[in-house]
Amino acid sequence: MELGEPITSIKGIGPRRAEALGKLGLFSLRDLLYFAPRDYLDYSQETPLCSAEHGALVALHVILLAPPKHARIRRGMEITTVRACAYGADAQDKTSQLLLTWYNQPYRAQSLAAGQEWYACGRMDRSRGVRLVNPSLHAQLPGVVPLYPLVQGLSQKVLRDAVAAALAAAEGKIVETLPDALLAQYNLMPLSEAISALHLPRDLQAAKAGRDRLAFEDMLLFSLMCSLLRRERLATVGPAFSMQGVLERFLALLPFTPTGAQRRAMQEISREMSNGRQMNRLLQGDVGSGKTAVALFTMYAAAENGYQSVLMAPTEILAQQHFNALKSIFGARALLLQGGMKKRERDAAYEAIQSGEAFAIVGTHALLSAGVHFKNLGAVIADEQHRFGVRQRAAIGAKGAHPHTLIMSATPIPRTLSLILYGDLDVSVLDELPPGRKPVTTRYVPQAKRAALYGFVEAQVRSGRQAYVVCPRVEQSEALPEVRSAGEVCAELQKMLSVRVGLMHGKMAAAQKEAVMEAFRAGTLDVLVSTTVIEVGVDVKNATVMVIENADRFGLAQLHQLRGRVGRGSAESFCFLLAQTDSAAARARLMTLTQTNDGFAIAEQDLMLRGPGEFLGQRQHGMDAFAAAKLAGDMAALNNARAAADMLLAAQPPECAPMLARARALIDARRGEIAPN
Ligand code: ADP
Ligand code: MG
Repeated sequence: MELGEPITSIKGIGPRRAEALGKLGLFSLRDLLYFAPRDYLDYSQETPLCSAEHGALVALHVILLAPPKHARIRRGMEITTVRACAYGADAQDKTSQLLLTWYNQPYRAQSLAAGQEWYACGRMDRSRGVRLVNPSLHAQLPGVVPLYPLVQGLSQKVLRDAVAAALAAAEGKIVETLPDALLAQYNLMPLSEAISALHLPRDLQAAKAGRDRLAFEDMLLFSLMCSLLRRERLATVGPAFSMQGVLERFLALLPFTPTGAQRRAMQEISREMSNGRQMNRLLQGDVGSGKTAVALFTMYAAAENGYQSVLMAPTEILAQQHFNALKSIFGARALLLQGGMKKRERDAAYEAIQSGEAFAIVGTHALLSAGVHFKNLGAVIADEQHRFGVRQRAAIGAKGAHPHTLIMSATPIPRTLSLILYGDLDVSVLDELPPGRKPVTTRYVPQAKRAALYGFVEAQVRSGRQAYVVCPRVEQSEALPEVRSAGEVCAELQKMLSVRVGLMHGKMAAAQKEAVMEAFRAGTLDVLVSTTVIEVGVDVKNATVMVIENADRFGLAQLHQLRGRVGRGSAESFCFLLAQTDSAAARARLMTLTQTNDGFAIAEQDLMLRGPGEFLGQRQHGMDAFAAAKLAGDMAALNNARAAADMLLAAQPPECAPMLARARALIDARRGEIAPN
């Protein structure tokens, strides 16, 4: 059998199972070989019964003492039990006895008889007597057993058998992809060995070594893709802007003096937009570091050179806010394209974009619609990019001829991850906050102190300030009664405090949200109760209090982002994290926020505590989730892979030609997916 053969060529895999396997991304024998277990059960050592602790995974060597008993406890619940004792122990000795118990596995009884010897593997249960519940039985120690991710219609056994068949078919057919020198240099397992260690490891170390080798290959492939893209980009012609005096003229329009970091970023952008090559830059900066001004500068530079530019925002509210800023610079040549526009309005907007009358255009996903045609698009800026997929960014880029691109990340990204996520981009960092910013005083507040907190909010309002209250949900849910809903909190505040309260959530129509936001901005609302729709970018300087309900339900990076909505003016600001949790870990997590205002430090912490999922967002690339997850915790391996990629690209050893070809094919495949409409 060839490794590219469909999975149905395996005995026992029919169309139904093939469909289920397809949901796991498994279509060919090769897919099975590379399918990573989500975990392993270590049954490589026999555990003496006396040292088998409650809850531990154990492999017990036992003798069955009696025939199995079968009973129906109630409808739909059958139980099979057999008495056993530790192998070699005195059968009369009560301390060496245990029960093996199976639920709803009546067939077990047929194959069991007194006197049989087995290795019984499972989780030790000492809660009621000494038991193994639903153990697996083996004639020999099973060793390390892989646990695969499953979907409906599959069992571990089906997957293990399928993988075993694929391994048998692969015998002698796996071609090494890395040069020997590289394997030796980074102490990597050869490919065929790594694949069998992934599925049938001798021990847990071998399993790890196998995974490491396969992850390294993914990282290498990914690094090659980044380097190839980068080379290509350096060779891609972009509009060559003349930047003479542009920065000075722009700064004269700004209502404030830029920070050193903002000035540096603008200079980097100036250089890149004037050298005749396409800019592809990531702008990283903590909340409130002033990324918007850098975006406006980029748009201004395009306009000065006779090019249109477009700013993509993740929400209508943010688009509206940016539009206000654009109007102050571009006047009537600024244009806001909204999702909910009436046909007449929308057609007029399309016309203005196509004719070139509109120079600086801002909007949400609406900008991606087929009707949007630019006259001469010179720059694309994506604000808070993690809400946008690569696809969307590329789709809009395809509406111009190699426009300069600036991506602004909403949350600071740990360095490890920014390399993974944006390895093909240049990076500017705003590592300085505008002057006069006081750190936001952050407190953990147990539910019992709610009344006092409300009193504080009322006092702030009375002194002319405004407050946000953020809730995880819009409506109360019966399943989660402890989770406070925006609706409920809003009603409570209206009843208890003499303040003007507004409600905003994602289910409201755009115009409605905008009206509420506008009222809050104008100061006709004192308190804004909201879901996380206000998470990104909203800027109201007079707001000094941020209350977050059920704060333990949010990630640290997200909480930091929410906190960033206050502390934008010169007054002292506060963030209160309300939580009702008995978990010390959850409280410790929230305490991190009370101790630091540094978004990068918080992001590192979040990555450590919650893994990379939150940061990965929609960014897609050639690498699977397992490698990405590994990368996040393994900076050294990533650096090795990057170094190896540089080496391979420089030396181009013939044995690596297939690897390079694969990297190129992945790049092309990605392009294919994001072809312009
Ligand atoms: P973010 O990086 O979170 O997008 P913004 O661009 O929204 O930050 O800026 C936050 C606030 O700081 C805005 O009100 C903006 O006008 C203000 N700001 C930005 N840069 C400066 C500066 N150099 N001096 C004073 N205020 C600034
Ligand atoms: Mg912003």
